[in-house]
Amino acid sequence: MTKTALITGITGQDGAYLAQLLLRKDYRVVGLTPRRGSDTMWRLRELDVLPRMEIAYGDVTDMGSVFGVVSEYQPDEIYNLAAQSFVGASWDQPVHTADVNAIGAVNLLEAVRKLRREARFYQASTSEMFGKVAAPRQSEATPFHPRSPYGVAKLYAHWITINYRESFGLHASSGILFNHESPLRGIEFVTRKVTDAVARIKLGQADKVSLGNLDAQRDWGYAADYVDAMWRMLQQPSPDDYVIATGVTTCIRDMCRMAFAHAGLDWERHVSVDKALFRPAEVDLLCGDASKAAERLGWRPATDLSQLMGMMVEADLRRHGEAPARA
Ligand code: NDP
Ligand code: GDP
Repeated sequence: MTKTALITGITGQDGAYLAQLLLRKDYRVVGLTPRRGSDTMWRLRELDVLPRMEIAYGDVTDMGSVFGVVSEYQPDEIYNLAAQSFVGASWDQPVHTADVNAIGAVNLLEAVRKLRREARFYQASTSEMFGKVAAPRQSEATPFHPRSPYGVAKLYAHWITINYRESFGLHASSGILFNHESPLRGIEFVTRKVTDAVARIKLGQADKVSLGNLDAQRDWGYAADYVDAMWRMLQQPSPDDYVIATGVTTCIRDMCRMAFAHAGLDWERHVSVDKALFRPAEVDLLCGDASKAAERLGWRPATDLSQLMGMMVEADLRRHGEAPARA
């Protein structure tokens, strides 16, 4: 029998890749999205998944609309990807961030508990919860110390997912995903900001890009690899929490070097540092240990950072000029 999946955050990077994956597996895919004043479907068009899925309008902060959608579609699997996902903006909009990232999750869990107990639930947790890290490599056992309103709100969602699992026996799992990027990544995130700039500089449309802290280190993977881990979590007999990461960490400076080199450019000629882009509190180092996911889910990352940067630079070159992507 065809399974129905409800994905919140469908118009985001992960929503698009997850919809593509589930359609390939013959799911009926329903994507929840708030009605916005402008068109937000570009990623779903880019992957050509929109004609094969259904869109349900609703907002995770609006319990009525969440209950309405769960009641109407009776999903077998619910993936809660909706978020104000940009850490930098969470200091400017802390209450909104808490509404979407924390209250949104409990609204969905309430809908599962009251209307669809047998549904399997996925919560999009994040390595930002580790924040000021207590260990050089972070696993499911590493204590949390979030460093931003984003991380704090996500930690609530993480714990309420565990709490509903323990209190009500829901099949609710939480994926602690480290940074993951792709050509569909939002332009405000550092990798995509850099690859977009590389493309414009290569094509003579720009000369400089300003960045903040170049010393921070991130464990970057490829979003299409990571959505497969989400699906694997919900196929397990029992719910659990899993770190999803590559285990390789790279500083922003070296990521820039890689991205510019892909287009035959020297990053140092084009990158300047703007102190205004530094954050009030920084997460200095993220490096995940995904051995539990490897062992129990059979999941391993398939794409390294150099391949990922290459893919993103190529996509941005195409977007900005249809130029052949040659170094
Ligand atoms: P995106 O920012 O690309 O997508 C977020 C999605 O949430 C968008 O579709 C957005 O819609 C939607 N959304 C925002 N507010 C609401 C709301 N009130 N109700 C319903 N939908 C809403 O994020 P990603 O795809 O990169 O990430 C997916 C999830 O994984 C997020 O929860 C993120 O925090 C988490 N995560 C991401 C990581 C990463 O590196 N990408 C790492 C770890 C966790 P709209 O555009 O219309 O606002
Ligand atoms: P995050 O890990 O979810 O916050 O992902 P980002 O891509 O937004 O940021 C990753 C790291 O890059 C953080 O340590 C930022 O401080 C650092 N960084 C340095 N310059 C920039 C910039 O111009 N934009 C963004 N978004 N991050 C930057």
